[in-house]
Amino acid sequence: MPTHSWGRIKGQEKDSKILHWRKDAFALSQWTGPVLAYGLGRSYGDSCLINGGTLIQTSQLNKFRHFDPETGRLSCEAGLSIEDLLKFSVPRGWFIPVSPGTKYVTMGGAIANDVHGKNHHRRGTIGCHIIDLELMRSNGEHLQCSLQQEEALFRATIGGLGLTGLILSCTIQLIPIESPYIDAEMIKTTGLGEFFEIDRTSDQDYEYTVSWIDCMAKGDQRGRGVFIRGNHAKGGDLRSYSKQKSPLITMPIDAPEFTLNRFTIKAFNEAYYHKQFSKLKMVRQGFDPFFYPLDAVGNWNRIYGKKGLLQYQCTVPTNKVEDLKQLFDRIERSGQGSFLAVLKRFGNIASPGMMSYPSEGYTLALDFRNQGRKSIELFHELDKIVIRAGGKLYPAKDALMSALTFQTAYPQWKEFERYIDPKFQSMFWERVSTRG
Ligand SMILES: Cc1cc2nc3c(=O)[nH]c(=O)nc-3n(C[C@H](O)[C@H](O)[C@H](O)COP(=O)(O)OP(=O)(O)OC[C@H]3O[C@@H](n4cnc5c(N)ncnc54)[C@H](O)[C@@H]3O)c2cc1C
Repeated sequence: MPTHSWGRIKGQEKDSKILHWRKDAFALSQWTGPVLAYGLGRSYGDSCLINGGTLIQTSQLNKFRHFDPETGRLSCEAGLSIEDLLKFSVPRGWFIPVSPGTKYVTMGGAIANDVHGKNHHRRGTIGCHIIDLELMRSNGEHLQCSLQQEEALFRATIGGLGLTGLILSCTIQLIPIESPYIDAEMIKTTGLGEFFEIDRTSDQDYEYTVSWIDCMAKGDQRGRGVFIRGNHAKGGDLRSYSKQKSPLITMPIDAPEFTLNRFTIKAFNEAYYHKQFSKLKMVRQGFDPFFYPLDAVGNWNRIYGKKGLLQYQCTVPTNKVEDLKQLFDRIERSGQGSFLAVLKRFGNIASPGMMSYPSEGYTLALDFRNQGRKSIELFHELDKIVIRAGGKLYPAKDALMSALTFQTAYPQWKEFERYIDPKFQSMFWERVSTRG
């Protein structure tokens, strides 16, 4: 069975190897052809897929190695998922410092994409919290990398798209918590203007900020949505986490194509916006529904039918608000819409990662049904706006950007090439690294 990415793009690997023990990776130099690590396949595009060669399945390489309950330093194998990390750490009063919007992500995958969360303005990317990592190269080199040792390779591996070798384990600094709950506030916003205002005043007092946006709303209502912000609650029962179950339901089959169209998406967005009657809602909720609402529905990507979905995630600099508005206009006019549009401002905390995606600015993420040519045309028009604004696209989500778009936005890619392991390859890299 070929492997798929989250957007349901099919991999073209010839062979697949499951790693159970770190020592299994010592055979890497003997495997013929190109190789690539695969975590839990939560990347939407083709960065976790390979054309020919061997896909190295890492999710069984998931053992804890060391934990210091005094300092919150945790060492684990690279296939450990955030879900399992939190099951272990939350009852002990520690939390992952940066989490993406799903907990079904391995630590190796999180490092390779240098993932960001709702607290980028406070803590930067996950790479800012990785103390060291163990890397296996295809020439048999087995390296400990950190800011003190093999610094260049450490920086290249954080956000290095899995191309610098196989990460076997890592050490991460966790953050202390008193409770598994989040004190959350949901504020209905009438348009982008209000979003900017609330966003500007939330940085200081809130660890987590993000906004859901109705991307089908027009005119004055363009950019209306729900601004969500929160902090870890003080006090509470740390052991109550184990009572939460997920996923609650699972999509059993692919939804038929006709269920998703301009009208159903508009209706969903309307209903979601009006679900909250009051301007402000304050709740104390478990961290699961706060961070991972989508994880409650297993295989939710099947909602988009057999052809799957495409995610468009871009960042434009903070002073390019007009370009951000243009993106909304263009999407609304295309009628292709999105159930999920998420807007957030990245702060100015630099990552150690050489190829890291986040940089100061507004990041917008939208899911679209894959409509082939129609989607390609829209995405390439959006790319033009983003590149003109001096912005960039997120490789973990991307399946369509051209080599030119990538190379313009990531000029450091040539320097990065020096650190790529000659045996490692991905469908994403084949597409974007061609020299024009
Ligand atoms: C619902 C949802 C919400 C999301 N929200 C966010 C978000 O808020 N922020 C964000 O940044 N991302 C987000 N993502 C994207 C996701 O966090 C990243 O794509 C992540 O890298 C996926 O991890 P994975 O373990 O599934 O890795 P995969 O998708 O399997 O692989 C990702 C990359 O990691 C490499 N890799 C995996 N393991 C190793 C290893 N051991 N050694 C070397 N390379 C390795 C692969 O080669 C590949 O290049 C979201 C995804 C979903 C589905």
